[in-house]
Amino acid sequence: MLKDLHGRIMNYVRISLTDKCNIRCRYCIPQKGIKSLSHNELLRFEEIYLLLKIFKELNINKFRFTGGEPFVRRNAMFFFEKLNIGKFYITTNLLSEGLDINRLNNLNIGGINISLDTLNPEKYKWITRGGDFNRVMKNIRDLQIKNIKLNAVIIKDFNEDEIKPLINFASEIGATMRFIEKMDFFKDDLDYISLDEIRKNLISENILSEEKISSQNSVSIYHQQTSGKGKVGFIMPVSKPFCNNCNRIRLSSDGAVKLCLFAKKSLNLHDMIREGKDENEIKEVLIKAVLEKLKVPENYTQTESMSAIGG
Ligand code: SAM
Repeated sequence: MLKDLHGRIMNYVRISLTDKCNIRCRYCIPQKGIKSLSHNELLRFEEIYLLLKIFKELNINKFRFTGGEPFVRRNAMFFFEKLNIGKFYITTNLLSEGLDINRLNNLNIGGINISLDTLNPEKYKWITRGGDFNRVMKNIRDLQIKNIKLNAVIIKDFNEDEIKPLINFASEIGATMRFIEKMDFFKDDLDYISLDEIRKNLISENILSEEKISSQNSVSIYHQQTSGKGKVGFIMPVSKPFCNNCNRIRLSSDGAVKLCLFAKKSLNLHDMIREGKDENEIKEVLIKAVLEKLKVPENYTQTESMSAIGG
């Protein structure tokens, strides 16, 4: 088991399949772009399978695959089809060219999170620097996966007026809408807005019921819709950091382990595997790293973009 000195048990790993993305969301990737990894720097599929086995043996019971955009990685679908870890989760923009929705529907998926910041095609194109709104909408409607969450990063004067339409759209397709506070990973022209105010307004307008529903370790605060059409989530890493519930480990596509979104990379499993370290050595290093996990980050500054970390 991976337990830290503050009593938190790490049982959830987020794995970035690639640092590359097919879109360039303005809050995620800086205008100048990011230096991308070479093929040799990426963990190979068989190396990821090995790490998944190790994580499972350390009692990790939830795996989410993210990116960059996971489906941009060549043969990603094949990778998912060969996975043998029970139900797993994917975070995607659902826009990758050639994404086969039928094959996606047949994966052993426990849930899928889709980034959708706006319902306006022009605004979608702007925020993603070129993304095709109609394609993502078609793919969303063709999904036959039960647990769908739509994620919208809320930005002042961009999509704060779309809160209710997004909730209604999610309800219409049987998905859960989640709003995310924008974190500043680099300097941009997009303004942060605290979601707590928006959450409280939706409660006073009687759109959401007052009671908070938060499952253990969830980074979201959820409220039921009073209409009975499901719940709405708020992820507030800026105004309400969720370090107390932290149960997650992030594995970047280059094999770096991040025990906190704001920690500097320290441990690299890619290097350990290629140096020929065996499974027990890797386990020991992970156990030690988790023991050293800080209760809260030293500071909340981050130099890497979310695209490199995986969200
Ligand atoms: N390409 C996939 C996607 O679009 O969902 C997965 C990777 S993306 C980095 C994962 C999540 O990170 C998305 O939901 C995105 O909205 C979120 N994200 C990226 N940059 C962010 C930021 N600056 N603040 C808050 N959330 C961010």
